[in-house]
Amino acid sequence: MADTKYIFVTGGVISSLGKGIIAASLGKLLKARGYKVTIQKLDPYINIDPGTLNPYEHGECYVTVDGHEADLDLGHYERFLSTPTYRGNNITTGRIYQNVINKERKGDYLGKTVQIIPHITDEIKRNVKLLGAQYDYDFVITEIGGTVGDIESLPFIESVRQLRWELGKNCLCIHLTYIPYIAAAKEVKTKPTQHSVKELQSQGVQPDILVLRTEHQLNKDILRKVALFCNVDVDAVVQSVDVPTIYQVPLMMQEQKMDETVLRKFGLVDAPKANLEPWKAFLNKMKEATETVRIGLVGKYVELPDAYKSINESLLQAATYNDRKLELQFIHSDKLTDENVEKNLSSFDGIIIAPGFGQRGIEGKFIALKYAREHDVPTFGICLGMQCMVIEYARHVLGLEDANSTEMNPNTPHKVIDLMAEQKNVTNMGGTMRLGAYDCKLEKDSVVYGAYGKDLVQERHRHRFEFNNDYREQFEEAGMKCTGTNPGTGLVEVVEIPSMKWYLGVQFHPEYNSTVLTPNPLFISFIQAAVKNKNAK
Ligand code: GLN
Repeated sequence: MADTKYIFVTGGVISSLGKGIIAASLGKLLKARGYKVTIQKLDPYINIDPGTLNPYEHGECYVTVDGHEADLDLGHYERFLSTPTYRGNNITTGRIYQNVINKERKGDYLGKTVQIIPHITDEIKRNVKLLGAQYDYDFVITEIGGTVGDIESLPFIESVRQLRWELGKNCLCIHLTYIPYIAAAKEVKTKPTQHSVKELQSQGVQPDILVLRTEHQLNKDILRKVALFCNVDVDAVVQSVDVPTIYQVPLMMQEQKMDETVLRKFGLVDAPKANLEPWKAFLNKMKEATETVRIGLVGKYVELPDAYKSINESLLQAATYNDRKLELQFIHSDKLTDENVEKNLSSFDGIIIAPGFGQRGIEGKFIALKYAREHDVPTFGICLGMQCMVIEYARHVLGLEDANSTEMNPNTPHKVIDLMAEQKNVTNMGGTMRLGAYDCKLEKDSVVYGAYGKDLVQERHRHRFEFNNDYREQFEEAGMKCTGTNPGTGLVEVVEIPSMKWYLGVQFHPEYNSTVLTPNPLFISFIQAAVKNKNAK
């Protein structure tokens, strides 16, 4: 395609309407037509990236292959599109300002007053256009975080206004709003949408397409009314009714010809038809699965469904491909004791020990692991979960009492998990962990090798601590094998106990690399083991 087309997705009325899912669904439909598509998220907060936020603030921190700590929406983009995202796919206000201030210090604006318009907006526009140019995409979909009217998002909306002007026909705006249902009046209300569009218009942006999020099916009259009040074509008003799974949203958008409307507005009239067959096959599998697999996830953010978003989705994908309905339950590691562990864990076919940082909830993870190991329950430890597997094994099998990670106890007599050498002089917290994809060499005849079916894999990382190789022999002799290592540094990436059904820990995060059409092999293998365990009960 000659020129990259730019699509902006803004949100109105309230937050949490699912702009990321709408952006990902449209991206999916365009990709299924053979186009090269990428999705970008602009976040209006001042942090340089979400790496220093705790999950209570912003849910899971996602990691790209090139080691960028990113908003969790990038996870949706990858799961829907099965194409990697990079540092350039997630930009915050903080990064925009940092770039501008660095340029100012270098003297790039010598003699000039540096201002929001044009300097900040120029930098925002540069970052949007750069993404299209760098990788030669046909479509760049840019989601603007926050809600129209927020002070923080003003420079982003202003940049959209300018880009519309500059890009002309190669630019389009989609606005997602909410249509509330007033139960007492038995009516849906369009007024908040009208106000939200007015707000957008007052900032100089006229949306081309409106997506109305609603809990109740909207009739044609409502759609017509919204179109009339908001200066939008009737066929460009799309409704997004609640559906049982987010993976149904692309089909719902396709039924309403959203992708056709987009293409028509760009003048792409004879675009190829979308091939959604593999996607539909996945959804059918999901619908048809009747038997369940019960997984318990032991972590400390149990009340936050978004804190382990990528793990939830990877498990759902793996269960679906194993023809099982996923029954996932979170167990608060803080609340586990030797007395209640049996009651809390005995009903699960498989157990996940979650990633994390810091001391809180850690002892509960050891209690869960001791139970799982002694009862031979298929268990999957991810990052901190893997480190906990090592510590629990050291304490209870190797007899190294008080073994620990130096993250939890810097004075432990047995540092079975220790700070990586490269981290010892690190003082800044932001973006300084071991981040992104690294090679991992797998031992033949191991569970992990069996899962991947090859001996070299790349998975993503986010950690500062590692398995202490001084103890490697001791572990291996006792029966916990190191079956995956970084070929360059010898850093232990995978541990497993071959005498057990499926007991495996990984230093990396396979959940960041699992999509609807390319599920991660380790999750597939874990669920297989859990199903086998269930059938043997
Ligand atoms: N806190 C551990 C480390 O930094 C594990 C990190 C994680 O689980 N992502 O090594």
